Amino acid sequence: MKKFQPQPGFVVQAFRFALDPNAAREHALRSHCGAARAAYNWAVGWVEASWWQRRAEETYGILEESLTEWRPWSLPSLRKAFNEAKHTDPRFAGWWEENSKEAYSTGLANASAAFDNYAKSKSGKRKGARMGVPRFKSKRKARLSCRFTTGTIRVDTDGRHVTLPRLGTIRTHEPTVKLLGRVQAGTARILSATVRHERGCWFVSFQAEVKRDIVRVARPDVAVGIDLGVKTLAVMADSTGEIRTVPNPGHYDAARAQLRRASRTVSRRQGPDRRTGQKPSRRWEKANAARNRVHHRVANLREDALHKLTTAVVAEYGTVVVEDLNVAGMLRNRRLARRIADAGFGEIRRQLTYKTRQRHATRLVAANRWYPSSKTCSGCGTVKAKLPLHVRTYECDACHLVIDRDDNAALNLAALAAAAVTGTGVTGDQDTTVVVSKPRGADRKTRATRPRRQAEAGRAGGATLPHQRQTETRDRTQAEALTLR
Ligand SMILES: [Zn+2]
Repeated sequence: MKKFQPQPGFVVQAFRFALDPNAAREHALRSHCGAARAAYNWAVGWVEASWWQRRAEETYGILEESLTEWRPWSLPSLRKAFNEAKHTDPRFAGWWEENSKEAYSTGLANASAAFDNYAKSKSGKRKGARMGVPRFKSKRKARLSCRFTTGTIRVDTDGRHVTLPRLGTIRTHEPTVKLLGRVQAGTARILSATVRHERGCWFVSFQAEVKRDIVRVARPDVAVGIDLGVKTLAVMADSTGEIRTVPNPGHYDAARAQLRRASRTVSRRQGPDRRTGQKPSRRWEKANAARNRVHHRVANLREDALHKLTTAVVAEYGTVVVEDLNVAGMLRNRRLARRIADAGFGEIRRQLTYKTRQRHATRLVAANRWYPSSKTCSGCGTVKAKLPLHVRTYECDACHLVIDRDDNAALNLAALAAAAVTGTGVTGDQDTTVVVSKPRGADRKTRATRPRRQAEAGRAGGATLPHQRQTETRDRTQAEALTLR
C-alpha cells in the first residue's frame, strides 16, 4: 500500500483507545475480523490456484505461451475478482452482506501486501528476513483485526464513544479527549481506524493527520547517553556528568511463580485435543483465562513502564544517544532471550524514534553497533583491548580513573553526541548513525568466550558458510556483553 504523505507541518499519528463493546457490538467486531480473514484466505487461494494450474499444465507438456495466465495480486484486481466471487463462491454464501465492505478490503489489502513482500524478498529488493509464500490464516491463531478507511469514522462529541461503518457507535473504555479535542480545534483529521483484539480486550486505533506541535524540551543543550542492560534496565549519563540508573522492573520474573501455579491448574484440567477432537471443559477454559490474565497484566505493566521511561527522556534532553543494538540477534541467545524480551530493548528504541520525531525537537543518535562503549575510558579516551564481563568496575591504566562499568559506557555514549553534531542541533527528524572508526581490539564487544563458541560452531554447523558463523558468534557475544549489567 502507498504510504500516506501528510501535508507540510502535519504528522501522521495514532490514537489508541480501549473499547467497551456490548454483546451485540462484540459479535459484530468478531464477525468483521473473521470476514477480513476469510477474504485474505480467499485471495491467497485464488492467486496460488493459477500457480498450481500452471505447474500441472507444464507436466502435460503444454507450451509456455498457452499456459493459464498468472493471476495478478494487485489490490484493484483482487477486489474485482472478489466482488464477482462473493456472489458465487459457496464459502461466502448467505453471510458476506452482514459485514462492511471494508472488512473484505482489509483482507484483500493484506494479501496483496503479503504477495508483494514475498516477491520483493525473493528478488532481493526487500531488506530483512526472507518472506515466505503467503499462507492461509488459521481461525485459531489469527489476530482479530480489521481496518476502516472510508465511511463514517468519528470520535463522538461526548468523548466516550466512537462510530465506525456498519459497527455503529461503540462505547470506549477511556475518554477520547486527546483526539476529540484536536478534531474539534481543527488540528487533526482522522484518516482511518483499525479495530483489534489484543490481550483479551478490544482496541480502536485511529490514524490521524495531526498538526505538528513541538513541545520544547526541559534541557535542550544537554545530551544523554543511554546504556541498556539487563540487571539495571538503563544507565543514563548526561553531558553535565550526572548519572541516573533506572532499575529493571522485571515484571515477568515477578509473575513467574504466579504463572507456574496458573499453568499447573490448566494442565490438570481437560484441555482441547485436536487429534481426538476433544473439546475443552468449562473448568479448563476458566483456568486458561486466568492464566492469560497474568500474561496480559505483565504485558500491560511492561508497556506502561517503557512508555513512562521514553516519554520522560525525550521531554528532558536535547540529544539522546542510544546504542544500535542487534536485538533480534540477542534474542537468539536462549539464556538471555527471556530477560531481554522482558526488558523490551527493541521497543525502547522504537518509542524513542517516534517520540523524538513527533513531540519534541530532540535529536536521536544511534551509536555504531561496534562502538566500544564499555572498553573506552570516559576520562581520557583510551581503549582497552580486553575487558572481561565479570569486571564490573572500569579502571583506566592511562589516567587511573575508577568508575562503574555501566556508568562509564553511558558517559561514553553521551560524549558521542558532541561528535555527531550536525547543523543547529534543533532538528527533530534525524536519526543519525554515527560511524566511529574501529579502534584496535574493539571489533567486537567482548572476547570472553569466543574460542569455545567458535569451536562449537565449527562442530555443529557443517553447512554454514564461514561468514555466517562469524556473524552468529558476534550476535551472541554482544548478548553476552549484557549478561552482567
Ligand atoms: Zn583514562
